[in-house]
Amino acid sequence: MSRPGFVLVAVVSISALATAQAPDILTTASSAMGATNLQSIQYSGSGSSFTVGQAPGPGAPWPRFELTKYVASVSYAPLPMMREETVRRDVDFPPRGGGAGPFIAATGQGGMRPIPGDVIQNVVRNGRNDAALALIWSTPHGFLKGAVANKARVKGRTISYAVGKHIVTGTLNQQNLVESVETTLANTVLGDVPVRIVFSGYKDFSGVKFPSRIVQTQAGHPTLDLTVSDVQPNNTAANELSLAARPPAAPASSPVKTEPQKIADGVWFLDGGAPMSVLVEFSDHAIIIEGPQNDERTEATIAAVKQLLPSKPIRYVVNTHQHFDHSGGIRGYAASGIPILTHEKNKPYWAQIFKNPFTLEPDLLARSSRSPVIETVGEKRVLSDSSMTMELHHLQENLHDETLLVAYLPKQKLLVQADAFHPRPGAKPLAAPPPFTVNLVENIRRLKLDVERVVHLHGGIDSMATVNVAAGL
Ligand SMILES: [Zn+2]
Repeated sequence: MSRPGFVLVAVVSISALATAQAPDILTTASSAMGATNLQSIQYSGSGSSFTVGQAPGPGAPWPRFELTKYVASVSYAPLPMMREETVRRDVDFPPRGGGAGPFIAATGQGGMRPIPGDVIQNVVRNGRNDAALALIWSTPHGFLKGAVANKARVKGRTISYAVGKHIVTGTLNQQNLVESVETTLANTVLGDVPVRIVFSGYKDFSGVKFPSRIVQTQAGHPTLDLTVSDVQPNNTAANELSLAARPPAAPASSPVKTEPQKIADGVWFLDGGAPMSVLVEFSDHAIIIEGPQNDERTEATIAAVKQLLPSKPIRYVVNTHQHFDHSGGIRGYAASGIPILTHEKNKPYWAQIFKNPFTLEPDLLARSSRSPVIETVGEKRVLSDSSMTMELHHLQENLHDETLLVAYLPKQKLLVQADAFHPRPGAKPLAAPPPFTVNLVENIRRLKLDVERVVHLHGGIDSMATVNVAAGL
């Protein structure tokens, strides 16, 4: 036997061992979980859900809602699909934090709290989108299906694979059941966000093992805490998900636009959908109140200001509070060299976020070499010149967000506010006046502001009298 031959044999046997090991643990786990012949699954239960990006203060946990109904249907092939139906109810009183979700015009739900009645959501994820697929593969059996489909790497009891830019990593317990899955998702405000899902209390449902508890966190805070009460393997409705999958949607053709609407002399709504921005014109510059949503919205708003006031540079964007619907665009302003003006408690929070990795979906700031400028407001800051005066005030003890700022224009007797008052035409009246609105009126009286009209950043303008009635004051 020649020496090169011995080396060759050794290499073959090591590589055979490595390839044999991966399918082994996956086969064992698939068999232990009952995943081998599973085409689809439906599981349901109840518990708590938490709204990401609506914390009552910078860096605080996401606010909790009671999840009265949760039904997930997952189909693994040919196109992986997942549908989540949820019904959530506001249960904390007084509420702390926001409750934004889909704004439901008919009931006036969403935007702020307390939210009257049930909020019903139906989210369909489709395997053509890598982020959605990473979440489908983060379900207990989906994780093993994804491992087989994506050439997983196995190290001990840890299994890992890539779904586009997303790495999905799971661990098995001593019974070879999936005990946790981790991945990373892109968030407009936070950047690359770690998602961790822990499965416990496995039970047998018609030969399929399924956890009786699922706890999910995002960025370290809980987003879902589910007690599973029913599991239906190869459920008909779940099976039909993939078959009903439509061809990929055509790319959206209409670009994001921001339409100016005059509110008062030197003041415009910059309407690109709620939440909006408000433009305030000074003698040689302009200030934008609120940088909502995302980069596209910021670019459209800056373009609209350039067209409306071509000779006036934007000196600041005011960030009324850190909720994600209101602040998703501020990184774009920072990338354009526009300073952010926010409550002083938000400064360390934003300074940290501006350093977060944005590798999954690099935004304007991630691609820029600019250092963001953050200026602050304590209880009050006045911005004034010969043509305009704007006072920024902190709403003390507002439970929607401890840093909430309002803008008061004394000459126009106008107050611009976010989420402290949000009219809900047609909605069932609340048992008691909304505490955020009561607090708004108390602050206006404490500060002795002479307000005639109140502008809502979620859209609309009301008289101060209407706001007083809503507050019961
Ligand atoms: Zn808010």
